[in-house]
Amino acid sequence: MIQKIDKKAVQDAVQMAYDRCKNETGGKNADYIPYLADVPSNLFGIAACLPDGDVVAVGDTDYKFGIESVSKVPTAILAMNQYGGQEVLGKIGADATGLPFNSIMAILLENDHPSTPLVNAGAISACSMIKPVGDSDGKWKAIVSFIADLAGSDVAVIDELYKSETATNFNNKSIAWLKNYNRIYDDPDMALDIYTRQCSIGVTARQLATMAATIANSGVNPVTGKAVFKPELTPKIASMMATVGFYEHTGDWLFTTGLPAKTGVGGGIMGVVPGVMGVVAFAPPLDGAGNSVKAQKALAFIAGHLNLNVFGTTRCVMAGKEPVKA
Ligand code: GLN
Repeated sequence: MIQKIDKKAVQDAVQMAYDRCKNETGGKNADYIPYLADVPSNLFGIAACLPDGDVVAVGDTDYKFGIESVSKVPTAILAMNQYGGQEVLGKIGADATGLPFNSIMAILLENDHPSTPLVNAGAISACSMIKPVGDSDGKWKAIVSFIADLAGSDVAVIDELYKSETATNFNNKSIAWLKNYNRIYDDPDMALDIYTRQCSIGVTARQLATMAATIANSGVNPVTGKAVFKPELTPKIASMMATVGFYEHTGDWLFTTGLPAKTGVGGGIMGVVPGVMGVVAFAPPLDGAGNSVKAQKALAFIAGHLNLNVFGTTRCVMAGKEPVKA
């Protein structure tokens, strides 16, 4: 069955989600990265970007927060765009770990079974794969310009966040070196630094919603009209987001909402409804797995209200919205 929804329905759903969730007080800011502990906990924004580039936004959608693990998504797409999905599957993998994002045990349990670019170990591997290999500046330019193309506007590192992460990323250092014996394809310290920098990029909920809409729109940015990546990669990245986007809570999330999405410890959650829209919520306090409590509630409400479940028998489409073509 096809269910047509219009912009007004999306606006109403976003506003209702905002009103229902704004007084939610659960969770607590990440504090293992000192910068994140000091971000105001009451920030809250929701944004959706439609296939014609229209953005619906409520709340703090222009505040620049740390993209954190949501950055694993663009880098995974960039690696697949450079090498092809099959090579990334072989070099890193696409299996959920069922364990925390920074789990060292997950690496030991792999027993050389590949993992996924959407947990720390696989994300550092993805950074090591990005071309030009061996050239830190070249890799960084490739990643940052790819993120800007997806978001439709420039992005930059929040220096204070980058310093804060670099001073405290001992666990990630162990991951980079432990992983090095067979799954880091460049200098491990360089790959880790690129990963830390990409996590420290500041984004707004609007920018992330546009990024999500570009992914939903087969790689064509609906705001700028630019073809950013190969169209066959949308189902590949959506499947990765669906299987591991909330780490050890991914099954519960997918069961509840059916929405492929990726979280970051900065409080952002980016949801992708392939062929339909990108939808994002942001609020800093997190649950024990590092996923924003308020943003989860808001997106779960919107997914239920608009029938965004990709496993549902009703296919939701935007009425009167022609997707932007390259
Ligand atoms: N930079 C963070 C880390 O590596 C990102 C984690 C996250 O957002 N889940 O620990």
